[in-house]
Amino acid sequence: MQTPDFPIAALRSALEGIACLDAPADRTRLSRDFYWFSPILKEQLDGKLADLVVQPATQEEVLRVVAACARAGVALTPRGLGTGNYGQAVPLRGGVVLDLSRLKQVLWAKPGAVRAEAGARLSEVDIETRKLGWEQRMLPSTFRGATIGGFYCGGGVGIGSNNYGMLKEPGNVLGVKALSMEAEPRVVEYRGREAIDLHHAYGVNGIILEVEFALAPALPWIECIVSFADFNAAAAFAQTLGESDGIVKKGISAHQWPLPKSYRPLKDVLREGESVVMTLVAEHSEEAFRELARAAGGAVIYANDARAPGAKKITLQEFMWNHATLHALRAGEPVTYLQLGYPQGRNLELVKRISAVFGDEIVQHLEFIRVQGRITCSGLPIVRWHDEARLRAVMRQLEEEGVYIADPHTWMVEDGGKKSINPRHVEIKAAMDPAGLLNPGKLRAWDERARGATGTEQRKSIFWDG
Ligand SMILES: Cc1cc2nc3c(=O)[nH]c(=O)nc-3n(C[C@H](O)[C@H](O)[C@H](O)COP(=O)(O)OP(=O)(O)OC[C@H]3O[C@@H](n4cnc5c(N)ncnc54)[C@H](O)[C@@H]3O)c2cc1C
Repeated sequence: MQTPDFPIAALRSALEGIACLDAPADRTRLSRDFYWFSPILKEQLDGKLADLVVQPATQEEVLRVVAACARAGVALTPRGLGTGNYGQAVPLRGGVVLDLSRLKQVLWAKPGAVRAEAGARLSEVDIETRKLGWEQRMLPSTFRGATIGGFYCGGGVGIGSNNYGMLKEPGNVLGVKALSMEAEPRVVEYRGREAIDLHHAYGVNGIILEVEFALAPALPWIECIVSFADFNAAAAFAQTLGESDGIVKKGISAHQWPLPKSYRPLKDVLREGESVVMTLVAEHSEEAFRELARAAGGAVIYANDARAPGAKKITLQEFMWNHATLHALRAGEPVTYLQLGYPQGRNLELVKRISAVFGDEIVQHLEFIRVQGRITCSGLPIVRWHDEARLRAVMRQLEEEGVYIADPHTWMVEDGGKKSINPRHVEIKAAMDPAGLLNPGKLRAWDERARGATGTEQRKSIFWDG
């Protein structure tokens, strides 16, 4: 059943010729993302449903959908592949889900830059750029199917961030083309700093039609796993590797035992009871890398040419970032996760401290990234699940220890990673979505503005503020 006053007939007629799905199974499938990662979000978001899913295949069709929804005052939630893990793509207030996965042309690629339509899969964008000897600077571990528009609007970091920082760092995003949510939709090109202002805003301030990213030189990569009897030794090696400027690598992650126990596809490789560091090393750096691993007391237990036949079945990248969480959740244990930021310089000391304070309540997983020129780590630990009260207590205690938390158990833009209101989000939304129809309920500052409230707690983070 649709929402009683949903103008289905008027929309159907305005969208004649554009693919529309209204069967309950399709609406359910395309109203979900990976919010179920969080037991808290699962309880709150189960059952939230679009009234209609629309799948435009061209930018002209997107424009027609947007105009029709704006005229009818219908909420519209854009969607790429739906791999966001905070319910970003869940239509809280029903309405239309705008599935952009058919808008997938790679428009052009040249040395150093690529421009693609928002629904292009990141893996397909990479195939095109590699033809020219270039690759994307960073990829989320969902790169196989996730869209470039979804990564820009919902993600922000990934494999390659040890070299290029987060996506929001100036120079990574070159520009975006956005469409306003109005009866007469306007196309606006945002460049440079302005393009960052729309980033990681869950699509509340414009429908992204095209994304332009800077690229890195493409290299032949060897996927490697180094095994350590001790997790702190693994973390220290990961840090040293990150700081070894002459060794070219992409992605560095450290996984504390027993987390690797849940990595079934790697079960014949991993050593019982040992923690591991995973990375991709450029072919020409392999020798220096092995020397570094040996000096740190690690054993290289896996080295796989990422281009070898069969290597594409599952890549090591699909054990990094939140893929590690996915493997842990699939193991069926009562666990959940957190997303942490460690201050540069103190990160390894805090990693040790957390193990000492929480014992086996927290199993650590670290991703090493470059922040303002220095290597530190993000944490995506697996946390034993008791209930929300205990999880919030753990979060408070972690903050007291000096660790920054990007709460993955909320769908609000400001309450998750950003932790502060970006006034530009609200200004851009006012210009691009004056009626507040885009992905409603996700931007706290907008809802507070509508209620006439002023100010929300502001907390600055060097990691996540957009
Ligand atoms: C197992 C797993 C691993 C992950 N690993 C990473 C990681 O390494 N790094 C990382 O950053 N994230 C990661 N994520 C989160 C997510 O996969 C990425 O952010 C991904 O890039 C989202 O792409 P998508 O196409 O699935 O977007 P969706 O989930 O469909 O959309 C994400 C958000 O953007 C909005 N949106 C999508 N397209 C548009 C558009 N064209 N215009 C306006 N708004 C739009 C949606 O409304 C939604 O709010 C992970 C998630 C999972 C489940």
